[in-house]
Amino acid sequence: MQSKVLSEFLEINLTKLKEEGLYNKIDSLSGANGPVIEIEGRQLINLSSNNYLGLADNHRLIDKANEANVKYGVGAGAVRTINGTMDVHDELERKIAEFKQTEAAIAFQSGFNCNMGAISAVMDKNDVIFSDALNHASIIDGCRLSRAKIIPYKHNDMDDLKQKVQEAIDSNLYVKKMIITDGVFSMDGDIAKLDSIVNIAKEFDCMVYVDDAHGSGVMGQGAGTVKHFGLQKEVDFQMGTLSKAIGVVGGYVAGSQALIDWLKVRARPFLFSTSLTPASAAACIEAIDILMESTDLHDKLWENGNYLKKGLKVLGFNIGDSQTPITPCIIGDEKLSQLFSKRLNEEGVYAKAIVFPTVPMGTGRVRNMPTAAHTKEQLDRALEIYRKVGLELGVID
Ligand SMILES: *Cc1c(COP(=O)(O)O)cnc(C)c1O
Repeated sequence: MQSKVLSEFLEINLTKLKEEGLYNKIDSLSGANGPVIEIEGRQLINLSSNNYLGLADNHRLIDKANEANVKYGVGAGAVRTINGTMDVHDELERKIAEFKQTEAAIAFQSGFNCNMGAISAVMDKNDVIFSDALNHASIIDGCRLSRAKIIPYKHNDMDDLKQKVQEAIDSNLYVKKMIITDGVFSMDGDIAKLDSIVNIAKEFDCMVYVDDAHGSGVMGQGAGTVKHFGLQKEVDFQMGTLSKAIGVVGGYVAGSQALIDWLKVRARPFLFSTSLTPASAAACIEAIDILMESTDLHDKLWENGNYLKKGLKVLGFNIGDSQTPITPCIIGDEKLSQLFSKRLNEEGVYAKAIVFPTVPMGTGRVRNMPTAAHTKEQLDRALEIYRKVGLELGVID
């Protein structure tokens, strides 16, 4: 029997969420997370994945994963520091470092726990972290875990950042200082001003930590936002995930050998949680090889992103100021955004509504994530459906 205290807690809070329309129903796919997905027997054009390059069901990755399953078994058997490190994990880290042009890299089980582990391994209660107001939840939680003072700065506002760093320095309260930012912001598709951030960091002796979850595979010919700005030598932490464009699962930090040596003895998810499966590590290596061999998938992603953006714009939709393939379609009203997404779904397009509190009140949107795997026909069909629903709901005329 469930305890009374838990039953009451759940009853009150679940009811409240449902009444406020904030209870999220989770759909279940009956196949790969590709450009077309199947949900409850219906085929839908998928504009909601982070599988930017279509690698999640790429046959080369699948083959490598299958080979690794046979060679190593399905599990790593222990945490990395005990005896869960296999040569395939070491090879993945060398590969990431090569791709990111750093001395070394460390792999984690996910991007989320990478941020939990890496930030708190370096920062502590005597330190200060300057964090972009729109940073990802895992950055926020990683910063909190470190117990450093967190000073948010206005999104991508370099004057505000500089002023806050100056004030913190004048206060003489802190030992180490870090500026932390997403490379690409996933709600609007805009890019962090890394050149300015690095200049401010140099002037005031701050570390720089870039979470490039949405930039890897997308920016800098695939190598990420730091490469896009040519700042591989200036950014201390190039953090990223292996679950989005890379198509598998896992997270990493690429940086100096000394930084990686430290994280391998102090990042708690590395020390106390079993490593990536060998099949995942092998598939990630193959994905990075594909990205280093050619920019075809990267180029196709951008071509598809630009095609969808142009199509929506011509139809009269507000697509914001995205600088990446991420294409928000800003509707405004929260309820209308949700209705819009529901109608798209009924017509055959899977694109999620994103509303307050994930984005500011009054900027509700349907977010589109085109990938390299979409065909022109699929994108044209999606645009037709957008047109129909947009006219029906009075979003365009
Ligand atoms: C998705 C995401 C993460 C988490 O990555 P996972 O590998 O899915 O855990 C971290 N940071 C940002 C900015 C993300 O978008």
